[in-house]
Amino acid sequence: MDKSWMQLNNRMLPDFEKGVKDFLNFAYANKDPQSKIPCPCMHCNNFFNQRREVVAKHLVLRGIVKGYDRWIYHGEDFGSYSHKYNDDGAGNISNVGDNDFIPEMIGDVATGFCSSGFFLLGFGGDR
Ligand SMILES: [Zn+2]
Repeated sequence: MDKSWMQLNNRMLPDFEKGVKDFLNFAYANKDPQSKIPCPCMHCNNFFNQRREVVAKHLVLRGIVKGYDRWIYHGEDFGSYSHKYNDDGAGNISNVGDNDFIPEMIGDVATGFCSSGFFLLGFGGDR
């Protein structure tokens, strides 16, 4: 999955728009198109659930939250999460220092993150 669009500062670029579409296609791959997903825009920060068209609008208007390069809230497997950050081969996920993700938290809710199970936890208080 090409995520270079997330680094673009100019969100009017076709590349960014295409990236948003790709993201939404990914996030809704196994979901009801009418359902809501955690919105990864700068404001919602994956905390608020929004509908597809709202997420698209937010991402263009506000930008995608920094550091969210592994879409764990949207069905991406985080099993390979440590690979990118551990060139020393230690394979220790707690080496990730400058990231917003908290390893302990990920561990606690690991089962809930898998695919759409995330919503069953009631995260976001949408129901
Ligand atoms: Zn948003």
